[in-house]
Amino acid sequence: MSIKLLSETIINQIAAGEVIERPASVVKELVENAIDAGATRIEIVTAGGGKSLIRVTDNGSGIPADELRLAVSRHCTSKLTDDVHDIRALGFRGEALPSIGSVARLCIKSRTAGADSGYEVVVRGGHLEGPRPVAINRGTIAEVSDLFFATPARLKFMKTDRAEATAITEVVKRIAISFPYIRFSLAGTDRNPLELPATCNAGETVDEAAMLDRIAQVLGNDFSENALALDSVREGVRLTGFTAIPSFNRANSMHQFAYINGRPVRDKQIFGALRGAYSDVIARDRHPVGVLFLQLDPAHVDVNVHPAKADVRFRDPGLVRGLIVGTIRHALAQSGIRPATSGAQAMLKAFQAQGFENLNSESAPQSSGNFTASPRHWQSAAHPPAPRQEWSPQTAHPAQRPLYPDEQSAAAFHPAGFGEGAQATIAQFATPSADSRAAETEAPAEMLRNPLGAARAQIHANYIVAQTEDSLVIVDQHAAHERLVYEALKSALESRPMAAQLLLIPEIVDLPEEDAERMICHAPTLERFGLSIERFGPGAVAVRETPAMLGEMNVQQLIRDLADEIAEHDTANGLKNMLNHVAATMACHGSVRSGRRLKGEEMNALLRQMEATPGSGTCNHGRPTYIELKLHDIERLFGRR
Ligand code: ADP
Ligand code: MG
Repeated sequence: MSIKLLSETIINQIAAGEVIERPASVVKELVENAIDAGATRIEIVTAGGGKSLIRVTDNGSGIPADELRLAVSRHCTSKLTDDVHDIRALGFRGEALPSIGSVARLCIKSRTAGADSGYEVVVRGGHLEGPRPVAINRGTIAEVSDLFFATPARLKFMKTDRAEATAITEVVKRIAISFPYIRFSLAGTDRNPLELPATCNAGETVDEAAMLDRIAQVLGNDFSENALALDSVREGVRLTGFTAIPSFNRANSMHQFAYINGRPVRDKQIFGALRGAYSDVIARDRHPVGVLFLQLDPAHVDVNVHPAKADVRFRDPGLVRGLIVGTIRHALAQSGIRPATSGAQAMLKAFQAQGFENLNSESAPQSSGNFTASPRHWQSAAHPPAPRQEWSPQTAHPAQRPLYPDEQSAAAFHPAGFGEGAQATIAQFATPSADSRAAETEAPAEMLRNPLGAARAQIHANYIVAQTEDSLVIVDQHAAHERLVYEALKSALESRPMAAQLLLIPEIVDLPEEDAERMICHAPTLERFGLSIERFGPGAVAVRETPAMLGEMNVQQLIRDLADEIAEHDTANGLKNMLNHVAATMACHGSVRSGRRLKGEEMNALLRQMEATPGSGTCNHGRPTYIELKLHDIERLFGRR
């Protein structure tokens, strides 16, 4: 085939492939245009999850009639002169409108302040009509219908209307956070309306209170009650915003927001720094909540890395990271929560480096390290061990694990007499026991031959010390039990559903509307786990039954964590992956907490159950559930060998 220049329409469709991934991307581009036009009111209406209709109305500057055709043409922008490094508007590529016009029907109506009338242009499949006069107030109405009609392949990738509508809500919320002087409203037949009134006047400098009010509209009032204000400058880079105290954490990272010069970004370095700032004070499997605004000279950051402009490149990434970590740590220290001392951490790290080197490694020679923490003895090749994860000091102690504000209530356990077989055996550990004495009698020789040996004692109310023929085994009972519950939950998906426990009074859980919506979408699946929920008006679900195996737990916290998990994995990964996360979250809530005293036979039953359960050598977060110290290594420690 000979070389030809592609047609304008094809070029635009190729660009659309990158810029317009789904309806939410259209909303993002149109809302950004309205903001760039100086609007103080932006109304968004959608239908069919944005696939059939997206209409964005603003009261901004409008587009002059003689520029309307240019506005929808490729590479035409009013926002950039000659310097691509001096970007002060959200848009600058002149790409969004022509891209949208190439994959949908696009109608732009606009009227500038001095004009005697408004004008409209219409683009469909790359074909342009107008401008012609139209009645409209000052500002612009951008209307997109039949999205992706011209690219059916893309249409096939769309999720349900509900999922797309939810993604649009999230885009609007994300952008609204950094423009508190703009009133946003979002409505449509496919959703519950969202109203975000302005929290300050346009033209005024945005103060901390206005910023926090807008964030509270999006994240809820409980965030502002737990928020720490940030404000610091280093070498021309300013960081403002809020992060929450460590105990106010979430099961996913969706409650982290970052902005560079007002532009929402999803930059790995920024979120990595946020995580880093909390690494001493938050469990590995939990996520801090925060909103970070960075302001710097536009020349020091490249936002032109990707057409969607979500990734950025800093001229000095180290400076930005240092500023974020330093400012947050300082705020945490000021608030009275002291991060662990670095000295203690270094010591633990050193210990770990030689101690846990062989974790889960099949090939390591038995005696090369002092400790082996490995499930290798009985695991068949069909169940390869989970990939090694860092055994980090801050997660090593189970008491520090789920930092729920209401840890106490989550830790309460009650008898749960139900189920049969494995379910019953696992459930029995969630039952309180009065007798805390360990196995005092001499263990029978055959028990010592088991991979995890015979239980000899329970120490610090969480660690089972067991003995095999040639080693000492220490089991983290919380982690081990959590894993067993998790495995049982997973098998419930493949075989029969899990037993449920009817709540005497249904528990009502308030959730952000999108979360409630998503939970209800997955209600039939949750039912298989024994969790029965239904709608309870806007922004709430009623919980009628809980999985019997979990015993009594904090239903509110469970539902919130599940909502987080589903939100994070629903769109990103397959159903199976999401279900595994749902199972893991439930297991975490239903597990016997550290602090529960176990009888000798209970401990041995737990060990046998672990041996019978593939994958039980690591907990759901990738940490080992037990460690084993070989006798000859103990002898070496004492200089006997
Ligand atoms: P960009 O935003 O990168 O400049 P777009 O294709 O999104 O490219 O928009 C092209 C041009 O159309 C903008 O530069 C702007 O001049 C004009 N425009 C688009 N939407 C609006 C709006 N809502 N109000 C005023 N002008 C607009
Ligand atoms: Mg634009």
